[in-house]
Amino acid sequence: MEMEQLVALCKRRGFLFQSSEVYGGLQGFWDYGPMGVELKRNVREAWWRDMVTSHNELDVPPGAPSAFEMTGLDCAIIMHPQVWKCSGHYDLFHDYMVDCRESKRRYRYDQVCGRWVTCKSHRIFVASEVGGKEAEELTQHKAMKFFDLRAKDAAALDWDGPLVSLSTVRDFSQTLGPDAKTLGTLTEPREFNLMFKTIAGALGGEEDTVFLRPETAQGIFVNFKNVCDSTRVKIPFGIAQIGKSFRNEITPRNFTFRSREFEQMEIEFFCRPETSPQWYQYWRGRRYQWYLDLGLSRERLRLRDHEKEELSHYSCGTADIEYAFPFLASGEFGELEGVAHRGDFDLRSHMEGKLVRQDGQLVVELDGEGKPRYRGSGKDLSYLDEVTKERFIPHVIEPSAGADRATLAFLCEAYCEDEAPDEHGKPTRRVVLKFHPRLAPIKAAVFPLVKKDGMPEVAREIYAALKPHLTVFYDEKSAVGRRYRRQDEIGTPFCITVDGQTLQDGTVTVRDRDTLRQWRIPKGECLAELRSRLAM
Ligand code: ATP
Repeated sequence: MEMEQLVALCKRRGFLFQSSEVYGGLQGFWDYGPMGVELKRNVREAWWRDMVTSHNELDVPPGAPSAFEMTGLDCAIIMHPQVWKCSGHYDLFHDYMVDCRESKRRYRYDQVCGRWVTCKSHRIFVASEVGGKEAEELTQHKAMKFFDLRAKDAAALDWDGPLVSLSTVRDFSQTLGPDAKTLGTLTEPREFNLMFKTIAGALGGEEDTVFLRPETAQGIFVNFKNVCDSTRVKIPFGIAQIGKSFRNEITPRNFTFRSREFEQMEIEFFCRPETSPQWYQYWRGRRYQWYLDLGLSRERLRLRDHEKEELSHYSCGTADIEYAFPFLASGEFGELEGVAHRGDFDLRSHMEGKLVRQDGQLVVELDGEGKPRYRGSGKDLSYLDEVTKERFIPHVIEPSAGADRATLAFLCEAYCEDEAPDEHGKPTRRVVLKFHPRLAPIKAAVFPLVKKDGMPEVAREIYAALKPHLTVFYDEKSAVGRRYRRQDEIGTPFCITVDGQTLQDGTVTVRDRDTLRQWRIPKGECLAELRSRLAM
């Protein structure tokens, strides 16, 4: 599947629109349309139900070291600025960017690559913002233009090695920027903090500056004590949260994959330090399985452990759950979720102040005068084990997923083209979204075959009987073949059709989206039939 086909389908069928489209759009922001809102809600609800509400704290789930509890939170998007100073986001949450003086475009330093080439005794680095095969073609094209070569002179270009990152280049004066025609137009890399700033309060001074949260996790850490004190949860337990996060990404792109406003589904799981490695393994496997259970294929989904150098300074282990999105070069994967072992870093930071690693130890960062650079809350966020009377700072396992990236992966996986008979029975190309039934925006559509002979009345009756239980759709416009195609394109698993035979024997046709198989059932059994087939 080409990404353009999916993007076009998402617009045509009301899954996703560019934000503020009538004004030309705003980069990095997206609106979910009537179908998209249902799909994303189903993704969020599947997560919340599977992780929180249907979790049984009395049983030991397969692979878990013991039984555990799960509970939820919904925190404010804007928090006390000190939260971000102690968490490290204020100082450390940045990307490096480079600007192009010629094209006036901005790039993420780590996302620009390129190739060295020599021609006419001149060696230059030709940069590209995209990677893989496409980058090779692009750099070839740019170099031909730069050296003023015709297609037949391509052999005059002496390429030196494969694509490498721009960060390996020391001298930008010999670099041709991704959108530049002259050499040396890229600036030196500079830091760029990804947190959006805004003002809380009428005065609007520097002291009123607040930030939109770049992750939901910190709301959980600063409420750890509140949750312990207000519920009877005992370690090990997890707190889950779903909510919007904001990052001023330098180069938002790849549809909703990298947005500036997005939704996260995060769990902070608190456990005893000595059992944390087992819990890390448990969550790593459980979260990977969750995506498989909802229909992502094993060939396109992988669980990748971070190399030692990739780990954050506080982390003893992180694994990413990654998906082979179609907009990536072949063999490349994009992150859907990170599962991290965070030790006691977060709770300690909010107790003591911003922590840094020194000689292998986490210590409070000091300023020039030997005072804490950012003071913590001073509150005791430790945990008292009432049985053993031990007090300790719990360790944390964090499975952190993106609702929009998961939704996008489910859309990519569902997209399928095959052949099916059209309204005249002739096989024609069909686009179908083969969503897992739990995720499908609409579970069933109800049609009268034609808009006469009492068929609409029966179809409406069936629709009304299903509506309180399932998201169903009623349609009596246009030929029935066309109506089937519309439902295929939004991924509706079943269509129920009232026809001439219904009026005689009270049975209706059920059509399966994926197999196109049709069978008859008594009209009064529609709900039971759908429930058993949808497994809901
Ligand atoms: P990336 O390396 O792709 O920027 P990250 O490692 O910074 O991602 P985390 O901070 O671990 O991401 O955030 C957890 C999850 O939140 C990600 O796995 C992803 O699903 C989601 N997420 C993060 N940034 C974005 C974004 N800009 N747009 C959409 N989803 C995002």
